Amino acid sequence: MNEKDCIFCKIVRGEIPSHKVYEDDDVLAFLDIGQVTKGHTLVIPKKHYDNFLSTPQEVMHKVMDVAQRIGQVQMMKLGAKGVNILSNCNKEAGQSVFHFHVHVIPRYGAKEGLKIEFKQPSELKDLSLPIIAETISKEIK
Ligand code: AMP
Ligand code: ZN
Repeated sequence: MNEKDCIFCKIVRGEIPSHKVYEDDDVLAFLDIGQVTKGHTLVIPKKHYDNFLSTPQEVMHKVMDVAQRIGQVQMMKLGAKGVNILSNCNKEAGQSVFHFHVHVIPRYGAKEGLKIEFKQPSELKDLSLPIIAETISKEIK
């Protein structure tokens, strides 16, 4: 996806409308058109990066700082009782817009909105957790 055709780059450039909630030199936040729950917000870097994994650290810090502040406001002013932070990375993980974004999803009760099913530990007993942990830990910088 190039920046010319990217829907979030178009929002940054003001070529398509959005309900903005925050803007500075590097970061933009606006309401998700899908509104999984009331106040569901997307936080993006203004510069195009494809996803969470390819975004430089200093940009990531700025985006996450804004995401945290939006979550705090959702709790204080929208009556949220909790917040989910989510970034889908690649289509296998559900990414549909390939410009890095963080979903900040206020939660009002356990039933509404987002549902992620985590497996029970008993379903994972065929995996070797020591080997998986070693594989990750020896590579991480
Ligand atoms: P993802 O599936 O994680 O890539 O999320 C993309 C999100 O972008 C979805 O939740 C969409 O509802 C949202 N979205 C797509 N187009 C727009 C738009 N024009 N304005 C606001 N949100 C949008
Ligand atoms: Zn873009």
